[in-house]
Amino acid sequence: MFKQIPPIGLFVLWLLLLTGTIFFSEWVQIKSHESSIEPSFENLTTTNAASKPKAQVHPEKAVPEDIIKYIFVKKGDTLMKLLVSNGVDKNQAANLITSLKSIYELRSLPIGHRLKISFAANSYNANHKYNKVKDFSFLKSFNQEVVTSRKPSGTFKSEIMIKSFETEDVFIRGKITTSLYEAAANQRTPIKLLMELIRIFSFDVDFQREIQKGDTFSILFKRHLNSDGKSVHNDKIEWAKLTLRDKHIEYARYTTTANNYTDYYNREGKSVKKTLMRTPVDGARLTSRYGKRKHPILGFTKMHRGVDFAAPKGTPIMAAGDGVIEALGRKGNYGKYIRIRHNSTYKTAYAHLSKYKRGLKRGKRVKQGGIIGYVGSTGRSTGPHLHYEVIKNGKKTNPLSVRLPAGDALKNDDLKTFLSHFVSIDHRIIKAKAN
Ligand SMILES: [Zn+2]
Repeated sequence: MFKQIPPIGLFVLWLLLLTGTIFFSEWVQIKSHESSIEPSFENLTTTNAASKPKAQVHPEKAVPEDIIKYIFVKKGDTLMKLLVSNGVDKNQAANLITSLKSIYELRSLPIGHRLKISFAANSYNANHKYNKVKDFSFLKSFNQEVVTSRKPSGTFKSEIMIKSFETEDVFIRGKITTSLYEAAANQRTPIKLLMELIRIFSFDVDFQREIQKGDTFSILFKRHLNSDGKSVHNDKIEWAKLTLRDKHIEYARYTTTANNYTDYYNREGKSVKKTLMRTPVDGARLTSRYGKRKHPILGFTKMHRGVDFAAPKGTPIMAAGDGVIEALGRKGNYGKYIRIRHNSTYKTAYAHLSKYKRGLKRGKRVKQGGIIGYVGSTGRSTGPHLHYEVIKNGKKTNPLSVRLPAGDALKNDDLKTFLSHFVSIDHRIIKAKAN
């Protein structure tokens, strides 16, 4: 991790170590703790107590230790409130906050976030306030820490410390036996990346009818490692491929230079995004059709003009495309029903919902991929499933056979850059596979 630090940097680091401000090593420790399990507020509140100074073997050599407190942000907390309730006097807290505001938008402190305050040793006064905050810090992201510290003059200074980690390419390939979810879990695919994978292919693939036993998925992503070689963060999927019996779909992530827009594009430079999604439901919860003996799912037939996605009650349903809510309410056999108008050609309908997303109303605009409701079994239904209809020019159309307009294509310089980017991805895949 210190590879690229110039001699002067090493000198400064040495000074820091010498003065006891072993900031980096401590941080690494914090981070590895956080990456193991997402901390939930409930089970961590008990660790709020200030750490006690360790017993000293040689009292004459004892250096008083700073008092460190960890605070977790709760709903309705303001930083002022948190600081004051943890023993910082109002004046100091106000100065600290003013300094912090110069580099950080305070409103964005997330609930459950961990804040660290260190107080100078022996600074607890008769009023039960610490009269000297030495520094205050929290992680803004896995590699950015916001630090506000006291200067010798007594005023506060705030800065964002950037930590660089070693990275490695990770290639994962999984064979689907029962569901994509299980295949991914078997290959220890991080859950966040699995969700991304499903999102990427939800435009092209009907995850319930098109996935077969023996189909495979592959992904490439970058992983950040701490000095112990432990994973601290995974970047987004950079490349993904789905190999189905009769189609191969492959996308690479790219950010346009023209307008700094990030999306996934195929080898021709065409965007993954289509007008509508083929699987407008959280695909991770779906099981493939062949797995069950007696499957409740009906395909699109003359009698049944839609497709059904069997999924557990409560599975989120997404808007298949951008549009406006045209209908929302009970509708006979359909039960709880939503219809979205996307443009002059397409509408989509969703039936048997257990409930609607809170606040959703007729006339409201929705974004593609945004949650509109949850799977249920209302109306005439044998079990929890989403009944999904694509209505083209007023006619119910088989979502599997409807040819959707392709997404935006990269052009000019962006296309050229993207094509060479894809070549470098190919090289990285070969290298990562070999590891
Ligand atoms: Zn149906």
